[in-house]
Amino acid sequence: MPVLTRLIPSPVVVDISRGAMDDLAGLLADQRISASGKLAFAISGGSGQKLREKLAPDLPGADWYEVCDGTLDSAVKLADDIKGKRYDAVVGLGGGKIIDVAKYAAARVGLPMAAVATNLSHDGLCSPVSILDNDNGRGSYGVPTPIAMVIDLDVIRDAPARFVRSGIGDAISNISAIADWELSHEITGEPVDGLAAAMARTAGESVLRHPGGVGDDDFITVLAEGLVLSGIAMSISGDSRPSSGACHEISHAFDLLYPKRAASHGEQVGIGAAFAMHLRGASEQSGLFTEVLRRHGLPVLPEEIGFTVEEFVRAVAYAPQTRPGRFTILEHLDLSTDQIRDAYADYAKTIRS
Ligand SMILES: [Zn+2]
Repeated sequence: MPVLTRLIPSPVVVDISRGAMDDLAGLLADQRISASGKLAFAISGGSGQKLREKLAPDLPGADWYEVCDGTLDSAVKLADDIKGKRYDAVVGLGGGKIIDVAKYAAARVGLPMAAVATNLSHDGLCSPVSILDNDNGRGSYGVPTPIAMVIDLDVIRDAPARFVRSGIGDAISNISAIADWELSHEITGEPVDGLAAAMARTAGESVLRHPGGVGDDDFITVLAEGLVLSGIAMSISGDSRPSSGACHEISHAFDLLYPKRAASHGEQVGIGAAFAMHLRGASEQSGLFTEVLRRHGLPVLPEEIGFTVEEFVRAVAYAPQTRPGRFTILEHLDLSTDQIRDAYADYAKTIRS
């Protein structure tokens, strides 16, 4: 008999609500993730310590591990520290870096991992990938998808607004990434996973079209759900294709060419997505992207994140090399630097008018 369904790797529990963090122990016990409460918590030194003080009284079986940075070394050290101590699960409690470190460490010692996000800076919170700094720059490591995903709206409200805004750029960029995927299907015959594309696109569109802002729970909920769905879309397709196209190649180029000056991931991919939409001739959508990014206080021009036009042109020219084998509007048009400069002038003129 043919296989008429497929299983999707996904968390057994997703809780995005006010006060979601208050009964973490109960939530993990109810879901049979941890009956004994023996948990290894990975936290940051700063805001992580405050959350520890708040949560520790209700979590007598937990041990707390401070993670100082998002490096592969820190992830390996965490794995060594928790090895052999019979924990039920690893809990990554913090921003993107802490969650990435916890994901990798949990995979290394064969434990399930629960992600408790304290900001919404990107769509890797619930993805099967851990992004870590290594001796060669930055690497993506395949790991299991988190078994639980908890986002407490009261905690997100306290996060620096910049980290929440960053997630907006990352969510909206899905729409550009899917357009790249469909273009590749048309030109190279690359298969598109319709379910992954549907989830990633819906996530992007719901953030793009939502009238609210980072100050209200309705909007934060839609943004958090969008980022979680983007991560699951990546689990479905088995790679970052549903959420990463020319927008991300341009951002990776910024990271590689100007490592000390790079802006946040969401700020860079937001600009990359608006410019990529312009390149593919979707000027109306490009205009909507820039309008929405601006409304949320996100940059739309490279100068707004401290880069000159020439530096931007160089990044766009370099972008295809950051993801060999990925076909996007950049590989399709294969523009010379002069052509990129002209296209940028046109983009800047359109959005300034
Ligand atoms: Zn991203």
